[in-house]
Amino acid sequence: MASCEREATGSGLKPLDVDEFRATAHRMVDFIADYYRDIETFPVRSQVKPGYLKQLLPETAPEDPEGLDDVLTDVQCNIIPGLTHWQSPNFFAYFPSNSSTAGFLGEMLSGGLNVNGFSWINSPAATELEVIVLDWLGKLLKLPEEFLSSGEGGGVIQGTASEAVLVSILAAKNHVLEMSLKKGLSKWSILSTLTVYTSDQAHSSVEKACTIAGIDPQNLRVLPANGSTNYALPPEIFSKALADDVAAGLLPFFLCATVGTTSSTAVDPILALGTIAKEYGLWFHVDAAYAGSACICPEYRHHLDGVELADSFSMNAHKWLLTNFECAALWVKNSNLLVTALSTQAEYLRNKASEMRMVVDFKDWQIPLGRRFRSLKLWMILRLYGASGLRAYIRNHIEIAKHLEDLIRADDRFEILAPRTFALVCFRLKPLVGDLDNGYRSNAELQEAVNSSGSIFFTHTVLSGVYTLRIAVGAPLTEMRHVDKAWEVIKEHAESLQLKR
Ligand code: PLP
Repeated sequence: MASCEREATGSGLKPLDVDEFRATAHRMVDFIADYYRDIETFPVRSQVKPGYLKQLLPETAPEDPEGLDDVLTDVQCNIIPGLTHWQSPNFFAYFPSNSSTAGFLGEMLSGGLNVNGFSWINSPAATELEVIVLDWLGKLLKLPEEFLSSGEGGGVIQGTASEAVLVSILAAKNHVLEMSLKKGLSKWSILSTLTVYTSDQAHSSVEKACTIAGIDPQNLRVLPANGSTNYALPPEIFSKALADDVAAGLLPFFLCATVGTTSSTAVDPILALGTIAKEYGLWFHVDAAYAGSACICPEYRHHLDGVELADSFSMNAHKWLLTNFECAALWVKNSNLLVTALSTQAEYLRNKASEMRMVVDFKDWQIPLGRRFRSLKLWMILRLYGASGLRAYIRNHIEIAKHLEDLIRADDRFEILAPRTFALVCFRLKPLVGDLDNGYRSNAELQEAVNSSGSIFFTHTVLSGVYTLRIAVGAPLTEMRHVDKAWEVIKEHAESLQLKR
């Protein structure tokens, strides 16, 4: 590792000199390659204390340019210790946020070209490649034809799944208001009746989207999905809530179901839920942020059965499909509804191609105006790994997770708490003698002890009131041996916890 002494290498860079660009960019690639080479030597979860960086960096920006060496020394000595290493093979927290060589190359190209493709005219290739690549991915997922660009639908890359559900709610809300206005109802009388449905296992982004979309918090139905259905939303609970709300004069307009919930990767029965949603005329959104990637494998595709009833569907290629952050794919069946809700027509954005309605302007399918050329990295992924490579990647993680599940099941001090459907294992140390809180504290202590050791990093959830440890296998460098080691580390800490009692 480089010394942490600063050498004041001075002189700085010109804004964009080709020779300097070539030399410094090569150095940066070397730096990143060394980072990946050394990644297992760092504690997986950062060990720094809040505010650590303020002590290490100057209070003001330098008046005179510094040299790249000094900056890289700071990165090595001051920034890397403050990183939690998401690409470490020993990272098992949350869901993965993948990086890969192909993803990085795409990201590098996108950053290097640095075009802003908010309208077609601003870089026709940026828009057209996105349309093509999302059709490719949609076909890999066997999405119905209506989600592809050949008809009224199509795909768009959002930053995150949170943005995907937000724009879907905004489109649905705008549509239902327009329909109500046509029936002669007043907008204001309708607004307070708009009602949204999801399960208590859905991601918090649904609630946030409702807040931003101005849905009355009292009209967000967070329906219970418990262990009796493996945390999937029972259709009859949805159906009853709908009937009650309609009887109470409310206007149900949006359902968000999840394929692969954040806590336990539960899969809502989207065929049954979608059928009910359609009977009542709701917009049906399917959030498969994590598990969508697995559905490119034929043996997991059945989890999307019913997606043909959805109005919008999203999955994060940046979670588990080797695509560097961020890249959330959203497909809609009727893109006009998105455009009607989100388009703006400022004079300074006017151009012939848009006015002649010959092109897609993705600014009208998202919240911000500006947008990066994100399809490049997805294109790279699909071309450089191929569908077969991506399927093998997913299957390997699922095999590793299965192996961990077997190890846990074979140890009667531990128990599995939810079915392992993809590559997430939910488990706990059974309550210790004298535990008065059903193992809540002992599992939290176990988790903290393991994470503080820096050897692995994993997170938790609560399922039916039970503190649940989660190991999500999905980092690109993770192999069977890493999970074997993780299990040894967890067992060792569990033993020392038991000895202390
Ligand atoms: N939906 C699900 C099921 C998730 O698991 C997550 C994050 O883990 C999200 C949505 C939010 O993802 P994003 O960070 O892309 O907004």
